[in-house]
Amino acid sequence: MPVRIKIAVGLAATAFLAVLSALIASAVLFPPPWRWLAAAAACLEVLALLFALDVYVPQVTVYTPCFRRGKKGSRRVALTFDDGPSAVTTEKILRVLKQHGARATFFVLGRSIEGNEKILRRIAEDGHEIGNHGYSHTKMHRLAASKLDDEIQRTERLVRKVARSRTVLLRTPHGFTGPRVGAAARRNGYRIVGWTRGVWDTDRDVTAARIVKRTLRNLEGGEIILLHDARGDDTSHVQRATVEALPDILRGIEALGLSPVPVGDLMSERP
Ligand SMILES: [Zn+2]
Repeated sequence: MPVRIKIAVGLAATAFLAVLSALIASAVLFPPPWRWLAAAAACLEVLALLFALDVYVPQVTVYTPCFRRGKKGSRRVALTFDDGPSAVTTEKILRVLKQHGARATFFVLGRSIEGNEKILRRIAEDGHEIGNHGYSHTKMHRLAASKLDDEIQRTERLVRKVARSRTVLLRTPHGFTGPRVGAAARRNGYRIVGWTRGVWDTDRDVTAARIVKRTLRNLEGGEIILLHDARGDDTSHVQRATVEALPDILRGIEALGLSPVPVGDLMSERP
């Protein structure tokens, strides 16, 4: 996690605890009606926190159903690549996956399919799973229902036309969800997919060695690993470090006795 995000999370947690402590103290110390007002404000603050966790933290599900990890004790891990297809990196990634006999899930952007149709077809021909990452990489939790449907359906139509495949897995840009996104996923026949392990391979100064380390440190069966073959917010960025890291990641996964699989394979292991 980049330092600026760690600092922001730390400040937000400190502010939350300070306000909650002040409200609880007020509820204890002051007479009615201030006591009840402070207690109601403390409850509202906790509800707001739960809502924020649901929307912004892909590893936490409060209101919005999301497939976040496979079965504990599984001997499989899911490799996922977001934001492609990329004319520069996706085929290199496909070559490495083929050399290792590994399959993965590619959460593609509709915008990036246009002009890269051959690459999307190759993803499907190589036996990988295709998931929907929306059309334009817009943060979905801010969108109205009709715009949400548009983001999902435009990409779905492109995947169907180009790869002749039907995708039912949705990974939202940045993993931001919320009840409205959950309703759109249900309406369009999708399951939202999160991840257990974000390795921040889109950081500008990240090295391949660091990506490998973050991916393999204490890796357990059932985990979903988030990698990128492009960067949705910056189409000129090239994910060189991810391509460079992938052979060592696959060797490391094999050394741990785990198999890299698409997310759908982890889902089918659920009891
Ligand atoms: Zn993305």
